[in-house]
Amino acid sequence: MNKCLQCGKCCQAIPFPLTKKVLMEEENPAESVRFILRYWKRVSAKKASVILDNDKLFSNFLYYECSLFNKESGLCGIHNDKPSVCADYPYYGKSPEEYASQPDNIIYSKCGYLNE
Ligand code: SF4
Ligand code: SF4
Repeated sequence: MNKCLQCGKCCQAIPFPLTKKVLMEEENPAESVRFILRYWKRVSAKKASVILDNDKLFSNFLYYECSLFNKESGLCGIHNDKPSVCADYPYYGKSPEEYASQPDNIIYSKCGYLNE
């Protein structure tokens, strides 16, 4: 399949390893860090689990939701201007096969990019 199903899961329960407190300590934060600090908000593991249909949560990750996600339309509110941290999701330069075969990939298991 290798395409987005527009389920919105990856914008409402985003796995990310660092707290915003740690990000705020960066002296010269990259554009993606500034974006995260501005628009992402922590969600509890319990809420993330519900959003992700009881999918496996990744133990070394925190979960965030993006305030730019439009829950009514189910779409990104800045689709044409999204930062690279979103635009490059989920492969970040790898091929789909290469990414899907990684044991540590952190994609929602029913994501259209992972499923044939
Ligand atoms: S989890 Fe996958 S299918 Fe769902 S919105 Fe994100 S990229 Fe698209
Ligand atoms: S900017 Fe758009 S694609 Fe990126 S996390 Fe927010 S809603 Fe999702």
